[in-house]
Amino acid sequence: PVLRTPEIQEARLKLPILAEEQVIMEAIKENSVVVLCGETGSGKTTQVPQFLYEAGYSSDGGIIGITEPRRVAAVTMSQRVAKEMSLSHRVVSYQIRYEGNVTDETKIKFMTDGVLLKEIQKDFLLMKYKVVIIDEAHERSVYTDILIGLLSRIVPFRKKKGQPLKMIIMSATLRIEDFTENKRLFPTPPPVIKVEARQFPVTVHFNKRTPLDDYAGECFRKVCKIHHMLPTGGILVFLTGQAEVHALCGRLRKAFPYHRRPKSEEKEDSADDMKKFKKAKARRAKILPRINLDNYSVIPIDEGDEDRDAGIDDGEEAFDDDLNLGDGVLEEGEASDSSLPLFVLPLYSLLAPDKQAKVFRPPPSGTRLCVVATNVAETSLTIPGIKYVVDCGKVKKRFYDKVTGVSSFRITWASQASANQRAGRAGRTEPGHCYRLYSSAVFSDFETFSLPEITRRPVEDLVLQMKALNIEKVVNFPFPTPPTTDALIAAEELLISLGALQEPSKSGRLKELERAKLSCPISPLGRTMALFPVSPRYAKMLALSGQQSCLPYIITIVSAMTVRELFEEFDRPAVSEEEKMKLKGKKARVAQMQKIWAGQGSSQKFGDLMVLLGAVGACEYGQFTYKFCEDNGLRYKAMVEIRRLRGQLTTTVNSLCSDVSVSVDSKMAPPTESQVTFLRQIVMAGLGDHIAKRIQPEELLDEKWRNAYKTPLLDDPVFIHPNSVLFRQLPDFVVYQEIIETSKMYMKGVSAVEPKWIP
Ligand code: ADP
Ligand code: MG
Repeated sequence: PVLRTPEIQEARLKLPILAEEQVIMEAIKENSVVVLCGETGSGKTTQVPQFLYEAGYSSDGGIIGITEPRRVAAVTMSQRVAKEMSLSHRVVSYQIRYEGNVTDETKIKFMTDGVLLKEIQKDFLLMKYKVVIIDEAHERSVYTDILIGLLSRIVPFRKKKGQPLKMIIMSATLRIEDFTENKRLFPTPPPVIKVEARQFPVTVHFNKRTPLDDYAGECFRKVCKIHHMLPTGGILVFLTGQAEVHALCGRLRKAFPYHRRPKSEEKEDSADDMKKFKKAKARRAKILPRINLDNYSVIPIDEGDEDRDAGIDDGEEAFDDDLNLGDGVLEEGEASDSSLPLFVLPLYSLLAPDKQAKVFRPPPSGTRLCVVATNVAETSLTIPGIKYVVDCGKVKKRFYDKVTGVSSFRITWASQASANQRAGRAGRTEPGHCYRLYSSAVFSDFETFSLPEITRRPVEDLVLQMKALNIEKVVNFPFPTPPTTDALIAAEELLISLGALQEPSKSGRLKELERAKLSCPISPLGRTMALFPVSPRYAKMLALSGQQSCLPYIITIVSAMTVRELFEEFDRPAVSEEEKMKLKGKKARVAQMQKIWAGQGSSQKFGDLMVLLGAVGACEYGQFTYKFCEDNGLRYKAMVEIRRLRGQLTTTVNSLCSDVSVSVDSKMAPPTESQVTFLRQIVMAGLGDHIAKRIQPEELLDEKWRNAYKTPLLDDPVFIHPNSVLFRQLPDFVVYQEIIETSKMYMKGVSAVEPKWIP
């Protein structure tokens, strides 16, 4: 029996899903696959695992698995469920890319979808699970989609074996027909159970006019207004990215100067950091992590928190005016009386977990909670006590050019479905209000739903994973929504060029060739590559350096290249003059450090990748502290991630190649000159199609090509970013990690290539 505290009991009873327990459990008993949909906050994620546990699905050694598209959700939900059931995290556990607390006693396991996909490679029938819940299926993350496809085949197998596996697809009430009316996926449509959420009415207010670009400023003014004029209740603001979130938090804290976070709070922060540091140290002391972790280095696009170019117009103009407008709600003289402090918290996916957890705690008494979030708060997390939602209507997404792979982060209008999800966050505990900072006419032009991620990004990583599962004809796979044929062909071509797939025979007509291209079997090299928890280009680098003393360096470089945003962003707009000076000073210092890390002599030619190696090396050389990172513009969280990935890759390499043994010591001496040359060649082998040639002054026909590079795939010039250590050198040939389009097309992760290496 599960022991729950009276408070938890009470909170549970309020959840609409509790009334449906019997219906849900009947359906699961009678059917192999069940679709369960209900509004965010109705209790799906926290309660369904408990129903299953209480019904005995994990009583004879089986595990109840739940997949989440976001790491944040996997961690916080496992903690919440453990707490609700008064069970230890040894029983209700989580596993995400680099970390987890799963034990032999684990009965309920939350994990990212990528983790489960990786497990399928080791155990195709997922024998240790009795139930697999695919949560947040409406988010349509690539791995969720593939899992649904794979499970649609695994479930009948398990049934035939007499050891049935139950599959539950949980989703918000959004376009579930992709799952239920897809005959290839489920020949017999699974039953759909709808949970009616106890949603209080939310009044939606549209702006009369839509601000042209200063939606962040508009958010600021709206929050001030709400805070001054409307009754108590938390405010949730939706912005598009981390930099915007921070800027608005700063502005709001500044606007209510009496209520800045008190000193004790700051102390708590540094105490947190100290704790984190100690934990990291303790972790280092332990042996390296085991490898059954998920393997994807690809950035989940929908966590669009990449903020390089999230320009914010930070004008303070009209701020006072706006506050005094009053709308007749305020008594005279009350406008400047902010006696109710605003407790401002940021929320985005790169934020440290302990800081994320703050939004679930009640704000200090006598304050109003204001959470400034990216779209992580749209569906996965329910923040208690929100009564007002301010929706900028925009979302930041990564867009890829299908042919060239060039990506850019663009801020676009959200979909109607997203906007409605956001609005819904206001009516969880009582009637609420949603302020949309755009007009109803603009809203009616929004697309109804956003396209599933799988149709929007390159798919070479998942094609390789699927081939490793012996799914040769990826085109025939029962995707809920298939990727485009173009994307599949591009993926197979890249994998063939990397040697991961066996080349199709060159004979035959073009059409047959195209078809053959889509069903190439995996090569032995491809199988090895599929075992590395990184995308194919990086896996190739690792596989190539298997026999070499350079392996620890390649492992480090690959780890650093696959972790998002190693360096802090200093090009962001500052909130104050003081901050501006601080940012400027820091930027100069970081540039100086990068020069040092880039090294001397020929190692300089290794460019940005040498900087990565140098930064990690310096950090590991005894100074792995929050302060060291902070001082040198490195993100501490990224450095910790790199360290974990290094450990994980080292273990993988050691287990794959019995004849080599890479030292697990995290400290490394700098590479010798000849080692650097070798490293540069290995990197080129993985990034072979990412070569760019400098346009020489005498070739210059058009000013726009000054200092530019030409790549085989693009007609337009690409550039070395001013932040790159190679910006002043402009080598004749370079390879780049990727191209990101901001104000220009910039190459990221650039290193020089010797012309004689180019085939
Ligand atoms: P759903 O999955 O249907 O969106 P959840 O099961 O996530 O719903 O949430 C149900 C309720 O549990 C929400 O109303 C939320 O306020 C509460 N809840 C979830 N996580 C936490 C937490 N970490 N702390 C406090 N309350 C939480
Ligand atoms: Mg949920």
